[in-house]
Formats: sequence, C-alpha cells, structure tokens
Amino acid sequence: MNGLNLPIQYLKGVGPKKANLLKKLGIQTVKDALYYLPSQYEDRRNKKNIFDIKPGEIVTVEGHIVQINEIKTKTNLSIIEAIISDATGYLMAKWFNQLYLKKILKTKQKIKIFGKAQIDWSGNYIEIVNPEYEIVENSNHQNHEIVPVYRVTQGLSQRQIQSIMKVAVEFAIPFIEEYLPEKILKKLNLPYLNESLKSIHFPPKDSDVKSLNEKNSLFHKRIIFDELFLLQLGILMMKQSRLIEKGISFNPEGKLLRKFLENLPFKLTNAQQRVITEILQDMKKPTPMNRLLQGDVGSGKTVVALAAMLAAIECGYQAALMAPTEILAEQHYLNIYSMLKGLPVNVLIYTSTHNKHANLIASGDANLVVGTHALIQEDVHFKNLGFVVIDEQHRFGVIQRAMLKKKGLNPDTLVMTATPIPRTMALTVYGDLDYSVLDELPKGRKPILTKVIEPQNKKIIYKMIEEEIKSGGQVYVVYPLIEESEAMDLKSATQGYEGLQKLFPQYRVGLLHGKMPSRQREDIMKEFRNGRINILVATTVIEVGVDVPNATLMIITHAERFGLAQLHQLRGRVGRGDRPSKCILLPYKLTEEAKLRLKAIVNYSDGFRIAEEDMKIRGPGELFGVKQSGMPDLKVADLIRDQSLLEIARKEAESLLKENSALNSHPKIRILLEEFWKDRTEIFMTA
Ligand code: ADP
Ligand code: MG
Repeated sequence: MNGLNLPIQYLKGVGPKKANLLKKLGIQTVKDALYYLPSQYEDRRNKKNIFDIKPGEIVTVEGHIVQINEIKTKTNLSIIEAIISDATGYLMAKWFNQLYLKKILKTKQKIKIFGKAQIDWSGNYIEIVNPEYEIVENSNHQNHEIVPVYRVTQGLSQRQIQSIMKVAVEFAIPFIEEYLPEKILKKLNLPYLNESLKSIHFPPKDSDVKSLNEKNSLFHKRIIFDELFLLQLGILMMKQSRLIEKGISFNPEGKLLRKFLENLPFKLTNAQQRVITEILQDMKKPTPMNRLLQGDVGSGKTVVALAAMLAAIECGYQAALMAPTEILAEQHYLNIYSMLKGLPVNVLIYTSTHNKHANLIASGDANLVVGTHALIQEDVHFKNLGFVVIDEQHRFGVIQRAMLKKKGLNPDTLVMTATPIPRTMALTVYGDLDYSVLDELPKGRKPILTKVIEPQNKKIIYKMIEEEIKSGGQVYVVYPLIEESEAMDLKSATQGYEGLQKLFPQYRVGLLHGKMPSRQREDIMKEFRNGRINILVATTVIEVGVDVPNATLMIITHAERFGLAQLHQLRGRVGRGDRPSKCILLPYKLTEEAKLRLKAIVNYSDGFRIAEEDMKIRGPGELFGVKQSGMPDLKVADLIRDQSLLEIARKEAESLLKENSALNSHPKIRILLEEFWKDRTEIFMTA
C-alpha cells in the first residue's frame, strides 16, 4: 500500500479519538492531511525585546520563565500565569483553562510566545493572553518561524493539529512522486510537488508571508496548477471520446433556411450570422455536436436555434426545443409558428397541459416540437430526433439535458443561456461543450433608462404609467414570488392588480402568475401580446424569455428582493422594440447588499459587466452553478481567482494530449486523473 493512503488514525500520535475529530475536517488519510492546507500563516519572525513592545502589537517574545502561578477565580475559572523575562524587562503570559500547562511549563525554561500584547487590568505591565508558545529546547516546530494555522474543530486545538501535521507531512513526503513532466515544470517555473507540499505546511524562513497568506506563493501555484491541470485533462479527454462517437452528419441543401431568412422582418446581426455558420459547420461533422450558445438577454438566440433546427428538418430529422417554463414554451411556440408561416414545417407544442398529440411526435408528423420537461417523460417517443435545443440551460440539470438527448440517437445539441460567463469558466463548467457567443445586440436597441423611485413617490410612477400607455406603450408591473412566502406574495400581487384596476379604470389590467390554469395564462399572454391588455401585473413567471416588443415600461416592486441576474433578465423584457424603454425599481427595505445590487443595475446594461458586479457582491460559486455542474470538487483552486492559471493549465493539457492522446506514456498522470475524477466521468460523458 502506498503510505499516502494510510488511515490517519495509525499515524504516530493520532489514534481513534483524534482521528474522529480529523474526519470532521475531511481528513481520513495521510494524503488528506497533506492536502489540508493552512488557512493562514503567523509570522513569528517579528521577535521583540519586551521593553520595546507597545500594547496592541502582535509579537513574538523569547525569554525565560521566572515564575508560574495557578489561579482559581470565583467563577471557577483556572488561569495559569507565567512571568517571562528577557534582558530588557518582564511580561505576563496568561492561559485560561489550560491546566495541563502546569505539566509542561517549568521555571527557568526558555520559551517563545506569540500573541497580541496588551496592558493588564491594573495598568502596570504588559500581558499576552492565551499566547501560542514553544519551549525552545524541545520544540515541535523548531526553527519554523512562519507558523501554519489550520482550520480546527471543537476538541482539536491549533497546537494539536499543528503537531499532527508535522508528523503527517514528514511521513508523507517520501511517498510523493513527481508526475508532471520536467518540461512543463521548467517551462512554467514551478517547484516540485514534494517540495511544494512541504513548504506550504512549513514555509522556509525567508518566505514572503503575504504571498503565502494570499495563496499565491510559488508553492501554492504548483498545487493549484495540479488541480486545474487534472480538471482540464479530464474534460479534454471526454471531448476526445465524444469525437469518436458517431452522430448525424447534416448536409442540408439550404433551401428551407434561405426561405426562412427571406421571410424574417429583420436582417441578422453579424454575430447571428457568424454563429449560425459555426453551428452549421459543426452539424456537418459526423460526430454529435455539443455546443453552448451564450448571448445576453435580447441578443436573438431563438432565431439562431431555429436556423439550426431547420437544417436538421430539411435533412429529414425531427428537432425539439425544451424551455424551462410553460409560459416560455407557449411563447416560443407562437413565435416559431408565425416565423415559419408558409414553410413546409409542422410545429407542435408539447407540455403537461398541451399533451394530446404525443402520437404526432411518434409518427414523425411533427417536425419541430416545442415543449417543457414534459418532453422527457417516458411516454414521449420521437421517430427520429436529430437536433435538440435547450433554452435557458442554467435552469436544467445535467441529467435532464441527457434525458432529452436519449430520445434520439446521438442528436446534435445546442444549449442556450443568457448567463454571461467568462470563456475559461464556460470551458470548465460546461465541461466539454463547444462554445459560441452572440456578442452583439440587434441594431436600434435603445438603452433602457433605469431608475430607483422610493415608495413615497408612487404618484410619479402612476403618472409614468399613464403617459406610457397614452403614447402607445404597454407596461409590466412585477411582483416577487418565492416559494417560502408564496401565499403572501401571491396576495400582494393580487392586491397590486386590484389597486391598479381601481386607479386606471380606463385601461385594461391583467394578472399573470404561475398558479393559474394554463388556458387562462395563455389567454392573458395573448391579450397582452396583441395589445388589448395595457398593464400586465405579473410574478417572476415572465423572467425568462418573454418577448413583447411593444412593452416599454417595467415597474419592479420590492426590487430589493431580486438577485442581480434576475433583475437583468427581468429588465430585458422591455427595450425590445424601437421605442425607448424604462425600468423603474421600487424598493421597500434596503440592506447594504441590496443597495449595491440596485446601484449595479442602474449603472450598467451589459450582462457581462453585471455578472462581474454580481460576482463581487456574492462570490463566484453561486453565479455559475459550479456546484450543480457535476465537476470534481476543487480543494485549493478557485476558478475565478485562478483564471489565468486555468488558461495555462488548459494549454498544457491540450499539448500533452496532442503528443499522447491516451496518456499511455504517462501512467502516473493517468492514475491521478482517475483518482481526481472518481465516478464523475460518467455524468459528463452523457451530458
Ligand atoms: P434572447 O436571446 O433573449 O432569447 P430572442 O431570441 O427572444 O432573444 O430575441 C429578442 C427579440 O429580438 C425578438 O423579438 C426577436 O424577434 C428580435 N430579433 C432577433 N434577431 C434580430 C435582429 N437581427 N434584428 C432585429 N430584431 C431581432
Ligand atoms: Mg430566449
């Protein structure tokens, strides 16, 4: 057995009791311990003469113990006091409730202590409470004057874990084999793995503590690189294996597509043209396409998807588009239906409420099926599904994606998202997907004027509503709705609706939420779309995808309750036509964080920029659904912080695979790769 796999319990000085505590920290083997990196470092090189110490300073002091006292307080607290002297003065070290120190500390001993100096309550002398200490003659961490600090758990002290680490690291280092080719190490100027691990736990005396604490020392870099390298290698290998899978090679003559483009009431943007070309080229290949299309809200993803679906249909295959909500599916259906008027394509909608015509899907009569999750139910069969589109992909899990694909035989897949995601992140989070981006909005889009208006100024808002409608526009009034307070949220939406009806008897006000029967919902959407409803009060059901170009004013009530990405999506419902649009944010209770969010949405319109702000406010993990993506856990690397290293790791992984696609000549890398990915490869393979 490799010593790295030794259960930590059997390490000298550990035993079952401490092993149990270590388990809580995720440490079960020696290897786990080795990769349990210090959360910070204490710089004890700042040794001071007692005479020079100022209260408030964090210092290291070396001296002799002159006297030791044990004190019991009235509240039954025990205190060990030690008077320590160096050549320049005396100070008092105090330890609360650590009676065992009686056995360790002795007078005349030479001791080094570390901690924050303060004036004692009498004002007479300097004291340090609960300092870290080191008996200088028989110290555990002898000359390591930069001391690692680990995250601990109750029952396990800092001192204990430090000495466990000392033993663990010493034990483990000889088992560490270098697996990266010398060539890569040289090129990137990275230290060896064993040296890096050792130094991360016990940094050399002359290390830069700041870079250690910021986790960008050379040693950290090496460890982070390893993780990113294995991550990218795995992803790239999956991509390789997909490339030898057999898919459909679509070679349409192009008639259908040409006719469709001729019928469009607008010209494609350059970005749309470019992306359609990318997709059609990919569809020609005999391997299954797996492509992510990212485009900001309103960038025109639907047309792109439709063009691709038509190519598949012309080749005799069925195409399916899956949307996350019923409302969105209905809208896509109506929209696509009207865009395809006059073309020989049968469009069908299939959702949990429109579920009568599964037979048309099975017979192949339906060429293009638009639907929701209902499409992936067992009783839905396609005759020959060749192309799959997933809209707003962040709303679907990996499994659902895979299930729709399984309805066909290695169909080409296009997943679409409006969530802006840096390229390197996309490459990672979406695994082995290829990537297209619509980085241009259709011409003539006017910026949406966004403003915060306080509730006490509601009158201004009423006036804006009136003016907007008079000049021919339509209005959304959005209410938040979350599951936890659903009943109350629905009530306030309904009350808002009733209030607006009273205020504007001359106009038609509609109410839309997810709890209504779908027939009713459809009717309302239809009426709003064709302009018979002037004001639509809605919950967040309209958040994604809804497209009514004549809607030009949006009021978001309780704007403080929405996330930044959500606000951006919502606002994207207006500004879709030629008329200038406005978005009014109506906050009630503003926290500091909510203020930052509203400020960002007022100041920025670009989705990438907004995502950046979101990242600053919330941290990256939340934003990109890294957790749901089925990726291995990263222990040290951070996909945002370490982006540039990620890029480098990807390049190195690529060039290694180019030389040796199965890694036959790198057995050590293969072993680590399998260890790193464990059972996760399968999810990725099918996604
Ligand atoms: P999203 O990318 O947010 O899904 P949609 O596909 O819903 O965007 O498109 C938004 C609106 O822009 C739709 O009304 C669509 O018809 C329109 N549109 C798409 N492409 C163009 C274009 N090239 N020029 C003008 N309008 C366009
Ligand atoms: Mg869309």
